[in-house]
Amino acid sequence: MNEGTGLPCPRRGACEAAAAIARDPALSSYSRVYCEGRHDRCQRVVQLAAGHDVDPRLLPDGRLLPDPEREPVAYAAARGRAPLPPDEQQRRVALLRHDVLDTPAEADLDELTALASELCGTPIALLSLVDEERQWFKSRVGLDARETPRDQAFCAHAILQDEVFEVADATEDPRFAANPLVTSDPSIRFYAGAPLVTTDGYRLGTLCVIDRVPRALSDQQRRVLRVLGRQVVAQLELRESVRVLTRQTRALQANRQELVDAFFEALEGDEREDLQRAFMSRLTHELRTPLNAIIGLSELLLEDDEEDPLTRRKDLTLINSAGRHMLELVNGMLDLAAIESGADAVKPTRFDLEQLVRDVVALLRPAARRGNNTLRATVDARVETVVSDPTKVRQILFNVLANACEYTEDGEVTLAVTRAGDERPRARFEIADSGVGMSEEQLARLFEGFTRFTDSHVRESTGTGLGMTITRALCELLGGEITVTSAPGEGTTFVVELPADGEPG
Ligand code: ADP
Ligand code: MG
Repeated sequence: MNEGTGLPCPRRGACEAAAAIARDPALSSYSRVYCEGRHDRCQRVVQLAAGHDVDPRLLPDGRLLPDPEREPVAYAAARGRAPLPPDEQQRRVALLRHDVLDTPAEADLDELTALASELCGTPIALLSLVDEERQWFKSRVGLDARETPRDQAFCAHAILQDEVFEVADATEDPRFAANPLVTSDPSIRFYAGAPLVTTDGYRLGTLCVIDRVPRALSDQQRRVLRVLGRQVVAQLELRESVRVLTRQTRALQANRQELVDAFFEALEGDEREDLQRAFMSRLTHELRTPLNAIIGLSELLLEDDEEDPLTRRKDLTLINSAGRHMLELVNGMLDLAAIESGADAVKPTRFDLEQLVRDVVALLRPAARRGNNTLRATVDARVETVVSDPTKVRQILFNVLANACEYTEDGEVTLAVTRAGDERPRARFEIADSGVGMSEEQLARLFEGFTRFTDSHVRESTGTGLGMTITRALCELLGGEITVTSAPGEGTTFVVELPADGEPG
């Protein structure tokens, strides 16, 4: 018989079969995991199965304890092997997400490890991360090894609990007495490890202190170790947040480029280049102003924590509105890009125009009331039903009417819808207000984008100035046009004409 020789088993699989016949799950698992086709072990399983007795060397995980004489290292490893945490798989995912394994040492973390060794008065301190088959030291004091097998790791035990895991004298502990780290270099006697618990509850490893003589931590030292462990996690998580933020910023930059590309795709040659340059420099300017406000104000808030709550609140409100303004700008740009690139296609539908007008007017009642304006609309019976894209018609009317309400005070806003066009029916929308009006020169720039001339009564010129640019793009998309007449102090009249007889899609 080949007992003890470790030669390949000529009857590979016999032990599995035997264990199955004995219907002993522990044996089955042993035969699969541990036998590995070695004849001596296989024979042992077959014997056990035949006798159907329980071997005292059978470990809870189904493995058999190796012979301490013949296989001292394997024996020690098996005796001291910590069970896997129940959340091992997710735990490892969390560890990998932190992207810290096999990275160079870092001063911040080394300082915390050094502090642990100093305050606990031990020659060795480690920041250990428990990987699948090993523990790897991100930071170490008093030890040269960069990693050790997980089977031998004290830390593999420490990550099974939330509290500090302490071994006063490893030679007295059956789990560690035969551990090579105890029987030979570095001759561990004392171990205390604080698990590194992430905010989402995963124990990545430990901050641990080790001594070559038996001892114990004072209550205070135990507390220190726990607090330092939390600091280590805070550092690791901070690094991860910064990484995520950097990634997102990059993605945002990439998106912006795409947006701009899409916008200019529709334009041609020189025209495109000129427009692109002009538009980009304006967009940059428009975005820079609120961005500067956000950065400047938030820095003030960060530096000055003495500031009284009212001023803080005011600053925060400004930051918030600057942020909202940027969002509006980005949304406006997205709308424009979608129209110009054809992504926002026309969907012709037969719909009730009178109903749509009533809805828009209802939506704008509050805006009219804010400026103490009357708002009235009439719809010619001949254009009560039309074929066009109702979503786009609604947006056009909303933009023009919202401006009329906004740049008028104590006055009148009217919308009259009539039929125009001789052969093919067109819907004509006339939106008139008695508000501040615009000069010749202002009118010339109205559709250029980012133009704002007047402070409205509701707000201090905080609009994006993209509303009319988008509106004109929508009118053209529907095959129509928009014109405007105005005079300062005398009010403004917009006329929108749209084909009303398309083929419903
Ligand atoms: P926003 O309303 O966001 O400022 P718009 O493109 O809608 O941007 O309008 C651009 C500018 O044109 C406004 O800031 C305003 O100065 C002027 N304007 C638009 N409509 C009117 C109107 N009905 N009466 C007077 N000024 C107007
Ligand atoms: Mg507007």
